[in-house]
Amino acid sequence: LRYIPSLFFLSVAIAIAASGAALWIFFHVGRWTSCRQMACRVAAALVMGLAVCGMHYTGMAAAVIMPFADCRFGVDQNFSLLEVSVIGATGLICIISLMLGVANRLLALAASGVVFSLPLGIIIYQEIINWDSHSNLTLFSSFVEFFGFIAMLIFLFHNLTKTEHAERDARHARKTAEQAAAAKSDFLANMSHELRTPMNGVLGMASLLADTELTEEQRQYVSTITGSGENLLMLLNDILDFSKIEAGVLTLERIAYDVKEAIAMATSLLKPQADKKGIDLRVECEPDVPQYIWGDPGRVRQIIINLAGNAIKFTEKGHVRLVARMQEQDDGSRLHISVEDTGIGIPADKLDKIFDKFTQADASVTRKFGGTGLGLAISKQLIKLMGGQMGVESAPGKGSTFWFVIPIARASREDTETTGDHMAERVVRDNLPPIAAARILLVEDYPVNQVFALKLLKKFGVRHIDVAENGAQSIEKYRGGTYDMIFMDCQMPEMDGYQATGKIRMLEDGTRLHTPIIAMTANAMMGDREKCLKAGMDDYLSKPLRIGHLKKILEAWFALEARHDIPETAAKTVSADMLQDAPVDMEQLHAFTDGDPQEEKELSALFLDQAQAMIAILKASTSGNDFDAWKSAAHRFKGASGNLGAMKLHHLCKRAEMHFEDEEA
Ligand code: ADP
Repeated sequence: LRYIPSLFFLSVAIAIAASGAALWIFFHVGRWTSCRQMACRVAAALVMGLAVCGMHYTGMAAAVIMPFADCRFGVDQNFSLLEVSVIGATGLICIISLMLGVANRLLALAASGVVFSLPLGIIIYQEIINWDSHSNLTLFSSFVEFFGFIAMLIFLFHNLTKTEHAERDARHARKTAEQAAAAKSDFLANMSHELRTPMNGVLGMASLLADTELTEEQRQYVSTITGSGENLLMLLNDILDFSKIEAGVLTLERIAYDVKEAIAMATSLLKPQADKKGIDLRVECEPDVPQYIWGDPGRVRQIIINLAGNAIKFTEKGHVRLVARMQEQDDGSRLHISVEDTGIGIPADKLDKIFDKFTQADASVTRKFGGTGLGLAISKQLIKLMGGQMGVESAPGKGSTFWFVIPIARASREDTETTGDHMAERVVRDNLPPIAAARILLVEDYPVNQVFALKLLKKFGVRHIDVAENGAQSIEKYRGGTYDMIFMDCQMPEMDGYQATGKIRMLEDGTRLHTPIIAMTANAMMGDREKCLKAGMDDYLSKPLRIGHLKKILEAWFALEARHDIPETAAKTVSADMLQDAPVDMEQLHAFTDGDPQEEKELSALFLDQAQAMIAILKASTSGNDFDAWKSAAHRFKGASGNLGAMKLHHLCKRAEMHFEDEEA
């Protein structure tokens, strides 16, 4: 066998060119064109196939069989061994690849390389022992094929693993970044939410303190506490807003509202600030601005307060002018609001940056004017959520004009009546409804506790109370009537308070109704409050019911009448004496019955009646090892005895319940 050199080299060239082209298609074409990755892989495989066939057939064409050569097989040649080796090697490669998986292809390659070289080694060995001048080229081509093949495999696998690693790393990095961002937003939202509650307490106390008799110096201190507290609260609100926006959980309301009133309300809040600095604060609404539009009035007010507040803050003298006008375009109407000031202005190179979070035009701003650099970032995001745009023109020393434009839909007065405005709700909240008009639903399964709760509510002047005995009943009642408040026991048979609340909130979904639901539970454990709030409840009342606590809750939602101002029995901790001496704290009982002996008799009778039943259940459940029955009986018995003032029994029940908390017999 001889070879025609030119054709032989052509076959090698075809192999190199076509396989190179296949690799190029595989690794690069997909990136430049919109060609899908799968399509690229298929094309690359076809071209790689061409490389193999092209090389093979050109190589065959290059071969010339010499007619008179001795072509008998050598005695040592063993082709069945070769066949077995090739089949075995191929199978082994497959198994190793499968076992090691994609990530370890390089290792698989090394292993298969060793295995693969075995049969080839045999061929080469046979070629060498049968060495003669005719087979020089055969040997040479075997070498080229072998090393070319190995080199190609190494290159291919190396690249594959590299791309896969890069892709995996990128995926991993993206996932980690997303998780980190979500954790950060969560943390910020929780933290600012948690901090706001005590902060409100501080501010409330400070305002009470300010109403007392104080020296001038003390008054100064109180005003500093209030000022700093308000700043901190504002910052917390901003952080909460921003983290909500970043986490993508901030949703805008869509209700009909009076936009002119919203603008007036926002600017009137800033008027005292402007007056104090001697700045002329003007508001101009062009006549074509409609009175009522659809949107989120609270957020629009927030943006206006931010822009106009900044304008007043950064202006020493002159004016701040807010102009509202309409822009009619083919795709609808837009409201354009601009706030112009004659203040310090912003350098051109800072104009873009001030919309980034925590960014201010220069570092001295915080020192001189305060602020956090969050206001504009939040406003911009809110406007973006509304489908609008925001911008600024400014010249240092001359002043700035911030503007925003949002698409709007006109509404009518009737729309505002049906959908209402949060602000309107708040105004109502300030003029709370009288307690006598309140309709209340009490959800409580245990008769003694029902009676206690009813008595207490009536004492506060509640006239209309419905009672439901479990969660399922409460939903029926909720469907049948409108309630101003629901008191919901948490542990009930059939459907508990958490589930019932979830259902009620689902029914309210999409409507503008939100009935305050107050949890009542004897589990005064850490985290129970959170559990109630998470279930959709608005507040939490622990059992035994405390008059002061109930009063606080009612006060937050209704106007109480002075004649219902019931003195609070001090929250008692049980002393050792009390446990020994008095089985019942009569003061607690009097709080419910006003010392009426007849009522006391009735209540005690009801309690005893129920107590017998509870004791029977407790007894029965000890013999049958029925932990659940034991726990629930002890829990109810605990609540009822606490309400009655039977503190000794109450604590015994508490211990009884706790014993089975861990389900230890
Ligand atoms: P803050 O006012 O709390 O610092 P903002 O996000 O509202 O945060 O504003 C960011 C920065 O933009 C401000 O610190 C200030 O440097 C600049 N800026 C905003 N409004 C004005 C304005 N009307 N005039 C001059 N500078 C302004």
